[in-house]
Amino acid sequence: MKIKVLTTFPEMIRPVVSQSILGRAMENGLISIEAIDIRPYAENKHHNTDDYPFGGGAGMVMMAQPIVSAFREAQGEDFKGKRIYMSPKGQTLTQKKAEELAKEPELIFLCGHYEGVDQRAIDLCIDEELSIGDYVLTGGEMAALVVIDAVARLIPGVLGSEESPVDESFSSGLLEYPQYTRPRSFEGMEVPEVLLSGNHALINKWRREESIRITYERRPEMLSGIELNKKERAFLDALIREKEEGDNNHADD
Ligand code: SAM
Repeated sequence: MKIKVLTTFPEMIRPVVSQSILGRAMENGLISIEAIDIRPYAENKHHNTDDYPFGGGAGMVMMAQPIVSAFREAQGEDFKGKRIYMSPKGQTLTQKKAEELAKEPELIFLCGHYEGVDQRAIDLCIDEELSIGDYVLTGGEMAALVVIDAVARLIPGVLGSEESPVDESFSSGLLEYPQYTRPRSFEGMEVPEVLLSGNHALINKWRREESIRITYERRPEMLSGIELNKKERAFLDALIREKEEGDNNHADD
């Protein structure tokens, strides 16, 4: 996959993507991630990329011309992917969205700053706007990095066999079960016995139940879209009864 990030701060992107799993994926030729500085595309005398908002108000707005020129060069003649503007007004990133984007051959991200971007640049160049959550950042670079990281790790070969995206939180519709590694005993706390049993059927059952438990405790709304077998349904019903009894006992106190 080819990824380009249009930004006025390319050094916020380059050192980050050259590290760890993304860096290794680039070295192995599985992805390319290029940070493109918008500033040299500005045709005005001082290469300014922002100006005062028409209609008044605080802050500056990124000008359309440098962005549109940078896009035209970055996408070339037969661009076949998605052009994304990172924006708090966009659709919120989810694992499903990351899976969808991981199938694209090319992605171009636009990072805004200040009050945002002249609407005409968005209308001309952008296929979709994407947010990483209901809060406002100073710029789109860290948001673009979040999306790139979530997408890149889903591309076949990017994760080594020891780092699988299967069974993770959200991939199955549930949050992930607790994980343990050596030593077996740490500060008086033991690893759950079942994980040492070597019995994979029992281990899988424990993991599935722990996933259901954690999802019920932390994100109960996620359970409505999940198919549970009879035993799992009974396990969840027992959790619900346990909680209701706990709540009633509190109310009686
Ligand atoms: N005035 C804009 C508004 O109220 O929607 C906010 C602009 S924000 C200070 C500057 C830039 O940061 C945005 O153009 C966008 O690229 C990025 N940004 C801020 N919050 C974001 C979020 N939650 N998700 C994605 N990008 C965000």
